Amino acid sequence: MKEAFSADYAEARGKFRDSAGSAGAALSSYEAPSRGPAGETLATDVARVGPLDAENVLITISATHGAEGFCGSGIQVATFGAIARDLPPRTALLAVHAINPYGFAWIRRVTEENVDLNRNFIDHSGPLPVNEGYDELADALCPREWTDAALAAAQARLDAYAAEKGAAALQKAASGGQYRHSDGIFYGGTAPTGARLRLERIVADHLRGARRVALIDFHTGLGPYGYGEPIVMHGAGTAALARSHDWYGENVTNPTLGTSSSTELRGEALTAMEAMLPGVEFTGMALEFGTLPQREVLNAVRADNWLHHHGTLDSAKGRALKRQMRDAFYCDADDWKSMIVEQGIARQRQALKGLAGG
Ligand SMILES: [Zn+2]
Repeated sequence: MKEAFSADYAEARGKFRDSAGSAGAALSSYEAPSRGPAGETLATDVARVGPLDAENVLITISATHGAEGFCGSGIQVATFGAIARDLPPRTALLAVHAINPYGFAWIRRVTEENVDLNRNFIDHSGPLPVNEGYDELADALCPREWTDAALAAAQARLDAYAAEKGAAALQKAASGGQYRHSDGIFYGGTAPTGARLRLERIVADHLRGARRVALIDFHTGLGPYGYGEPIVMHGAGTAALARSHDWYGENVTNPTLGTSSSTELRGEALTAMEAMLPGVEFTGMALEFGTLPQREVLNAVRADNWLHHHGTLDSAKGRALKRQMRDAFYCDADDWKSMIVEQGIARQRQALKGLAGG
């Protein structure tokens, strides 16, 4: 179980390719233009197990938010040994490793473009979503100085905002996505990122013949330690929401219905994937594993943003902030790893069963 996890992107990539190969998967690679901290090649790797013309496809994605890839990669590696060898008939498993390899390698949530990939799937030719709360708090969320005094002043402003408007309003302002501050956090970008274009190519290359597709996108950083919250974006009254409940049970949550630990989002990958697959019976879920308390996670993201815009990576402070970032999205502890692998594999079994018609 522990062996499925890696200490960095390069090791994760090697383990993924090795374990996929051992399970008889067909591998393909989609290189990113950027490089990792050690100059290593960055790529999204895709492993396919099962027939090319499979009617039913389970697709899993890791590292939509780069630093969360430690978790998703570990589950994907463990999956090859656990379920890839006995897939149901007419069914394929498509494991997409490190859709955002830059963020994984550099231990950031964002892509090369400083964009949150899960806010980037909007039509950029139309009016961009407005986030007035973020506009108001931009300087407090991303202060120019990262000192105790600057942080205390910033925290006082965030606390005052939460006291006036509520904790949920603060969460929405900070993490709901914003399209005006390119050097800020949870930035959705002004154009499709390279990672988005890669995902679109992967869908076109690998899901052409599918009639039923289940997506599980692995995330970390929200909710209780080690618990995997099944988050869907399927709207109230849709067949897909009913199907999600049938497959995954009553614990399924939905941010638009106010039942999730995630705030309501625009431009996320689940809705985008559904739109990429017209005529396909699509059931999409983000499996969100808890790590540390929400404020600590948000502070790690703020610090990482400061570091990449104003700080020095190769310094004692830079290394401390990187450790903080890694710890916020990956609990390097045996109990946590056991919990996420167990749930990650159980959810994939449920999806496979659902795809096969229950
Ligand atoms: Zn995430």
